[in-house]
Amino acid sequence: MHRSLSALCLTVLLLVAGCSTKRESGSNEKTRPRTPRQDVNVLLITIDTLRADYLGCYGRASIATPNIDALAAGGVRFAQAIAQVPLTAPSHASILTGTYPQVHKVRDMGGFVLDDKVPTLATVLGQDGFETAAFVGSAVLNHYYGLNRGFATYGDEMRAGQDPKKLPGVVAEVRGEVVTQRALQWLDKSASKRFFLWVHYYDPHFPYDPPEPFRTRYQKDPYGGEVAYADAQVGNLLKSLEEHGLRERTLVVLLADHGEGLGDHGEYTHGVFLYDSTVHIPLIFAGPGVPGGRTVSQQVRSIDVMPTVTDYLGLAESDKAQGTSLLPSILEGKPPAGSYCYMETLYPKTQMGWSELRGMRTDDWKYIVAPRPELYKYPDDRGESRNEVGRFRGDAERLRKKVWEIAGSSQSLTRVSPQLVDEQRRRELNALGYVGGGRRAVTIDMSGPDPKDRVAILGALERAAGAMNHDRWNEAVPLLEKISKEDPGNPLIYGYLQMCYERLGQLERMEQTCLRAIDNKAENDTTYAGLGGIYVRRGNLARAVEYMEKAAQINPAGLENMDNLATAYMQLGRANDAERVLRAVLVQDARHPGAHNVLGLLEIQRSRPEEARRHFELAIESNPALAEPYMNLGLLAQNAGQPQVAMNYYREFLKHADPDKYRDYIPKVKEALEELLTAETQRTQRKNQ
Ligand SMILES: [Zn+2]
Repeated sequence: MHRSLSALCLTVLLLVAGCSTKRESGSNEKTRPRTPRQDVNVLLITIDTLRADYLGCYGRASIATPNIDALAAGGVRFAQAIAQVPLTAPSHASILTGTYPQVHKVRDMGGFVLDDKVPTLATVLGQDGFETAAFVGSAVLNHYYGLNRGFATYGDEMRAGQDPKKLPGVVAEVRGEVVTQRALQWLDKSASKRFFLWVHYYDPHFPYDPPEPFRTRYQKDPYGGEVAYADAQVGNLLKSLEEHGLRERTLVVLLADHGEGLGDHGEYTHGVFLYDSTVHIPLIFAGPGVPGGRTVSQQVRSIDVMPTVTDYLGLAESDKAQGTSLLPSILEGKPPAGSYCYMETLYPKTQMGWSELRGMRTDDWKYIVAPRPELYKYPDDRGESRNEVGRFRGDAERLRKKVWEIAGSSQSLTRVSPQLVDEQRRRELNALGYVGGGRRAVTIDMSGPDPKDRVAILGALERAAGAMNHDRWNEAVPLLEKISKEDPGNPLIYGYLQMCYERLGQLERMEQTCLRAIDNKAENDTTYAGLGGIYVRRGNLARAVEYMEKAAQINPAGLENMDNLATAYMQLGRANDAERVLRAVLVQDARHPGAHNVLGLLEIQRSRPEEARRHFELAIESNPALAEPYMNLGLLAQNAGQPQVAMNYYREFLKHADPDKYRDYIPKVKEALEELLTAETQRTQRKNQ
């Protein structure tokens, strides 16, 4: 009874949702009768941070991109393709679901999870019998965020041992050749079946460090070097497809998730602004039935990709999709049906405390909703340098209304809460006392300064990040101290400063920075986690726990803080609290090495050495570069009377231990190693006598 009632409610909800997400332009001939393509595979290639104008086929001569150029020459190239969000996770969610962020719910980086009711290309093709797999190049697309839904295989293992917190704005990634290799290994096993394969290359993303020979060849333009390297990877992938005899049976779709500022409008990377430097992306379709050498000059959107692929395959389109199929443009060169393109970025608000931005782009205009609105006219002003909002008031008003048709009423501007993990895990976390989300809610009401009035701050932040990326912490500090006074509500500035002082070992200054962030209401979970770390080092565990608990409540997905909190609980003799925190970590990542290390310590406290050993081994298996489990395994082996094993583990510890972090332990381990060595020598001597 209950079940059927809730099923009915769900149906009603879906119908309502279906209405509200109706596409804004729907004159597409989607009912055209077509025979489903029974024997075609789909290969989706997304290249992160790839500006359209860095490709030869989009007019750039100085960077060698022969493979993508050849793909375009043999297929259909969209000259004006636009990303919905200039950020990796939200943009990929739009590509895979054909919906805007209001529908797929991945509104920003970190903590926003794909709505599990929205169909994705993977769920739709998987249901149709395709073998599905994805291989991604960055932790930004980790399965936590739900983009793995529908993929039977989701390769998101990042290089073990890479410290994701090492540099500001830098996350764990794997090079393109590793991604290609993983994809090809999978293809070897699955090539006999019909497949949908998504391959994501992260290489052009900051920091720019192309491998040789690209590093030398593009010394003056390392970003261009990364683009050329990514192109070479695309070449390897397509060549292997050809060798498998699959090229003529595979639809290849290649696009970027967003571009890169490279200094345009005062932005060096991406995410803050909605200018074409970061939203104009390449988009190419090639494969069976796709004519060669066609260019579509009208504007299209990344939300059109999914409806195009399902239309091409003759599958029913997703009831949630807001994009329209580009198949008539591809096959017959007809103008695309969807002429309005919505864009947004919440990143200036979530990271800097500035106003978030929304925009509407057409073939002729771009309008940006900001504290000081902007209007640019195409094609006369492709560089978007002359704000015409005062001159074309009627057009500005029409586009402004269009923005709010997609974004929701401007009266309803409100808060969005990141959903930390998917439904089931969230319930498990709630049960463990982590309600999460609410405290991190972001007010998206256009409050805060206009980002374009803060380009000087943005420039200083970029310079500071550059210095920090080269371990020049002392050089970054004065820059950051200065702008923290000019823009005191900016959480990112305090976050960078906190990191600098931590790296410089200046705990007093680090503490002052965290407290200033709190005073200015610019704190986040990292602020409290940082304060917790300071008090751990000062030996005041009770105070440390207070701060770390606060960080955990704001963001239970901050797993390093959770590990530290568990360790502190354990040292305070609060074993049950420690275990509760560690369970919350494992709900989110069953293989989390830090959690297994602390669980091992707990088992030692409980005098269960075998269980302890298993946890330490699991920790090393997940991350062979993690130092601490080696030391713990060494201790266990020493206690068990296995000096050789213990010595090997101690040596591994000394090989991996950060001299600063393990300042207190390194001499002790060295001492233990010496003693074992001496004992061993004496034993051998006795034996020989
Ligand atoms: Zn990206």
